Amino acid sequence: MTQLSLASTPELRDGVEVFLYPQKGESCQILFLFLSSRRRLRITCKPSFSALLKELSKPQTLGESLTNSGLTLDAYTSSFLSFLEEEGIITMSNPLETLLLPKEYVEQYKRQVYFLLDVLKSPQLAHAAQKKIFDAHIALFGLGAVGSTLLQQLCMMGFRKFTLIDYATVENNDIARTPYHIESQVKSLKVQAARNLVEDHAFDPIVFLHNTTLKTHTNLDILGEKISLIANTADEPYIGYTNIKLSRYALQHNIPIVAAGGFDAHLASLGELLIPHMTPCADCYATFFHERLKNWRPIPHPVKDREGWFGGLGSLSTFSASAAALEILFFIISSGDQQVSPGKRGEFLFHDYSLDTFVVDRDTHCRSCGTEKS
Ligand SMILES: [Zn+2]
Repeated sequence: MTQLSLASTPELRDGVEVFLYPQKGESCQILFLFLSSRRRLRITCKPSFSALLKELSKPQTLGESLTNSGLTLDAYTSSFLSFLEEEGIITMSNPLETLLLPKEYVEQYKRQVYFLLDVLKSPQLAHAAQKKIFDAHIALFGLGAVGSTLLQQLCMMGFRKFTLIDYATVENNDIARTPYHIESQVKSLKVQAARNLVEDHAFDPIVFLHNTTLKTHTNLDILGEKISLIANTADEPYIGYTNIKLSRYALQHNIPIVAAGGFDAHLASLGELLIPHMTPCADCYATFFHERLKNWRPIPHPVKDREGWFGGLGSLSTFSASAAALEILFFIISSGDQQVSPGKRGEFLFHDYSLDTFVVDRDTHCRSCGTEKS
């Protein structure tokens, strides 16, 4: 709590709607609606506090607001003001001022800082969250339709340190699938096009590139030290295989993974967050689907090579990239608070415009993360 001073100029935040209900007896009700987070908070208090809230919406000192509402800075009023500050309803100082981050960076991302302030309730917590984003080092496997859009969105959230891994080159049809500058970058390496994308969007970027595939024998020590999170969109040969490879490495090194969606028939998948020893790992997911699909017998497909005939839609890839970007943001700003939790998988189904989701539990006998011997 900020030290209260009668000369200070607290501000009622414009991201909070305040609804005052008619006085009933010696009390009145107030509803606070936080516009960005949709959080609602209803309180009952004495009518003079309702009057104080009206005064706090004016550009004046705390002393003037108290006088105009017939209050003094006694213990009861002080605790009410503390409550308003702790809930993120008023700010006692400029919410963008911080010593944690460069001033230009905060100016660039101020709309997001205000959003974080709504979610986390205080400027200090919002700055601390944005500092985690500023410092985080994301390793991104796969720079195709989902990976490139995910990368762009992470830059737009303020992430700036990346290790980027892909083996392919930019093709003409990428104009409908990626945010790369196609005209100048067709036939250039995707890692190079991705570096240019980061340099266009990120603040003071730091980028490491690896023009390589992700195969069984790939040595993941190329990631080096201090990776905060791995994002996987590498779907060759198959996202399930690349996830298992990365998940086993991540379990050993205690690194979370966001396995982004947007692959094969699941074009608008929500992806999943794999936190070592807290959520199911990729092996747990594989076991879950192995069990679930054990009676599923597809007829062998007569087409030998589907490549070139398998369709997609840029907006569906963007949907998956957005879901993964939000999952990464949520994890980074709340890391340390996670509880042991089940996994979730889901996808947006375009044909009937619905969201299909279900829960995947950890496999206690899992060969990679299990806690019990099978
Ligand atoms: Zn597991």
